[in-house]
Amino acid sequence: MTQNAAHDLTRRGFFASTGAAALTVVSSPASASVAAGSASDFQYEVVRTIDEWYTQLGEQSYAIMREGFTEARKSSPLWEETRVGTYHCKGCDLHNYDASFKVVLDKGWVFFEHAQSDSVLTAIDGPVPEYGAMAEDAAFTEVHCRRCGSHLGHLLIIDGAMLHCINGASLDFKPEAA
Ligand SMILES: [Zn+2]
Repeated sequence: MTQNAAHDLTRRGFFASTGAAALTVVSSPASASVAAGSASDFQYEVVRTIDEWYTQLGEQSYAIMREGFTEARKSSPLWEETRVGTYHCKGCDLHNYDASFKVVLDKGWVFFEHAQSDSVLTAIDGPVPEYGAMAEDAAFTEVHCRRCGSHLGHLLIIDGAMLHCINGASLDFKPEAA
C-alpha cells in the first residue's frame, strides 16, 4: 500500500529494533527484571492498529510517521512557514513544536531549535539518504512523538547548532488567530 511512497521515499532502518524485541520474547522470565524501560515493555499512550493509522494519516504521512521514511525536500510547504502558531503531531495532536522555536533554512525540511517540553523522545536511526551531503555519517538520532511514537524527523547539527529536522508531513500547523 506504500508502493508510490516507496518510489518517492527511501526506506531507512525503522524496524531495525524488531529483532532485539524478538530476542527478548524467547529469553527466560528472569530477564524481565532487567527489561524495565526497554523497548519491549514500553507502551505509548496512543496506540492504533496499522489500518487505523493508514486511514487516519493517508499514504504519505503513514510512510513517514509509521514506517520511518523521510519526505523529499521542500515537499511540504511548512518548511518556509513563518506565521505565529503551533505545530502538532499529525498522529495524536500533541503540541510538539512552537513557531517561536522555528528556524527557516533553505534545506527543505522544518527546523526547530528545540521541542516543547515533554513532547518528543529519541532513538538511534540508520542512514537517511534524503539528506544528501548532510548524511555522510550513517548514524542519526531519530525524533518521535512522546505520546504516539510516530516518527517525526531527526536531530541534525547544522553550522554548529543542534536542530530538530522534522518532516512537514508529520505535523499539523495551527496558525494563531489574528
Ligand atoms: Zn503523536
